[in-house]
Amino acid sequence: MSETNTFSIRVEPTKHSRLSQVDFNNLKFGQAMSDHMLVANYENGAWTDVSIVPYGDLTVSPSMSALHYGQAIFEGIKGYKFEDGTVSIFRPDKNWERFNKSARRLQMPDVPEEIFIGGLKTLLDIDRNWVPSTEGTSLYIRPFMFGTEAALGVHPSASYKFVIITCPVGAYYSKPISLKVETYYTRAAEGGVGFSKNAGNYALSLYPTQLANEEGYDQIMWTDAAEHKYIEEAGTANLIFRIGDTIITPHGDTILHGVTRRTIIELAEKWGYKAEQRKVSVQELIEGIKSGAVSEAFAAGTAATVTHISKIGFEGQNYELPPIEGRDFSNKVLDYLNQLRYGKIEDPFGWNFIV
Ligand SMILES: *Cc1c(COP(=O)(O)O)cnc(C)c1O
Repeated sequence: MSETNTFSIRVEPTKHSRLSQVDFNNLKFGQAMSDHMLVANYENGAWTDVSIVPYGDLTVSPSMSALHYGQAIFEGIKGYKFEDGTVSIFRPDKNWERFNKSARRLQMPDVPEEIFIGGLKTLLDIDRNWVPSTEGTSLYIRPFMFGTEAALGVHPSASYKFVIITCPVGAYYSKPISLKVETYYTRAAEGGVGFSKNAGNYALSLYPTQLANEEGYDQIMWTDAAEHKYIEEAGTANLIFRIGDTIITPHGDTILHGVTRRTIIELAEKWGYKAEQRKVSVQELIEGIKSGAVSEAFAAGTAATVTHISKIGFEGQNYELPPIEGRDFSNKVLDYLNQLRYGKIEDPFGWNFIV
């Protein structure tokens, strides 16, 4: 049974919904996939066959270019359910823009708004019962694209698949994390691909992160590739500091420009804080922790919104940050965004995209 909607997205509904098999009180991240996925193919210079089909395996060639040369990018977005059942997606337009920036850097085609945003909307409409409703839960949305051409030569793939899969995720209670300032391994260099959400950026982080874990730290605080002097970001989240009454976040093309980071900077400005996007040296941070000028430090990303940082390790020394209770800016951000995303307060910025 197929039908065509206004975006000419072909919809093939599942005959066997798995919804009743999912224990919504015990969700493990990224394991219970929703009933449907969106798949679109790029061939001969154009996107075709945009379809929503039952979630399932894809058939690919073993010589597929993404597996060998890494043309693979993704996004991470969240959908929420209001008390009245409304389904809302948080700022997906920003993810769409960033996705296409990642695509261009890796010589991949843009995905048009009708497919990315329109597809997201149609997919979430069909799987709206998969969006969990209890406080703290959400539907994690993973759009991705990869080169599918079956050929071993190193050149841009002639064909691609764009796919969106989703899964309900449980309440995210983030514990404060400890970070190790990384002064040897490098995530991204000037002119590289640090700003793009491409698969390779995560593969390269696994080994140094494992070493940091063995030393007792939760994650790495990456520093610049040239001198290891300036702070960049954490594993999958941006870093934000409060120094005096200024909210500061590292800047540049070697970091991923997070939607959460941007959102928090916009809120800081609106709330009358001074907000700066600039280089932050490790020395400025360490000196500031010692003097008490650094009163808040947190990681910002779609997964947890705000993850407080408890401790920073640098050259064998640990530097403790002030107690979480006193961190009024980050606690206020967390509370405000929670209320906004569940539709409990006005949305003055138009950040909620209603499905
Ligand atoms: C996804 C990601 C972030 C956070 O971006 P959001 O848009 O806020 O989720 C930060 N750093 C890296 C490396 C990431 O992959």
